[in-house]
Amino acid sequence: MQLRRAARVILVGAPGVGKGTQSERLLRRFPQLASISTGDLLRTNVKNRTPLGIKAESTMKSGGLVADDLMLRLISSELRNRGWLQNHGPPEVMTLSSEAISASEMRNPDDIAFDAFAAGRPMSPAQASEDPTASFILDGYPRNAAQANSLEGIVPINLAVSLKTPFEVVLERIAGRWVHEPSGRVYNTTFNAPKVPGRDDITGEPLIQRPDDTEEVYRARFQKFQEASEPLLEHYAKKGVLVEVEGMSSDEISPKLYDVFEQRFVM
Ligand code: ADP
Repeated sequence: MQLRRAARVILVGAPGVGKGTQSERLLRRFPQLASISTGDLLRTNVKNRTPLGIKAESTMKSGGLVADDLMLRLISSELRNRGWLQNHGPPEVMTLSSEAISASEMRNPDDIAFDAFAAGRPMSPAQASEDPTASFILDGYPRNAAQANSLEGIVPINLAVSLKTPFEVVLERIAGRWVHEPSGRVYNTTFNAPKVPGRDDITGEPLIQRPDDTEEVYRARFQKFQEASEPLLEHYAKKGVLVEVEGMSSDEISPKLYDVFEQRFVM
């Protein structure tokens, strides 16, 4: 289905709710959508030993959050490379110091934009394209209200979807998950049970439960998610772009999600 307006979307959902599944389905239904994953972009930068990748590497290794200015730079250069971020003439405000820099220190437009943005100057040299082909789902960003705020200056998100499935339902799904480790085959005692309990259908070998797939671990992850996502959702609610989509399963959520997209970006 063709989009008529640019969709700049984030999906927010607790671990296990099926964000990845919904992303994949949306990309299939709306071929103009792209998925932009900050985790993937960061890993590519690390692999290619770019200055940004080198700066981000140690933080990523320790599991921390990469600094805000780097994340903004990462996203905006990705959008710029895709031709989805445009400059509108030269920056309106040039400080003495930025005029005085020598050619060898020439900075890219993103840096200048960020400096102005960080300094709170009312300058918007870059603007997200409104062309429907410049449509994307951001994966992994923003993660908190501070990141959402910074992103707003460059790429205004026009739809934030909160995916909701009752806690007990997700917990049951996770607690019912059994894996055949050598092949990676995954079973679920509630909706995809092995023919013989505890045994792989093909080899008959024993199934195991992943150490993370326990109620205790899931509760802790869920709690952490809620704490982090609440201010994020609040941010988008204030902007008037937050929609909640609830369902007991991915198949129940998908059609509702398609409707939301069609109402906003197709009709
Ligand atoms: P995970 O879900 O394990 O965090 P990702 O692939 O999304 O995996 O990200 C890998 C690493 O990249 C993170 O641990 C973090 O260091 C960095 N990262 C990704 N997204 C962000 C973000 N929005 N803000 C800061 N750092 C990020």
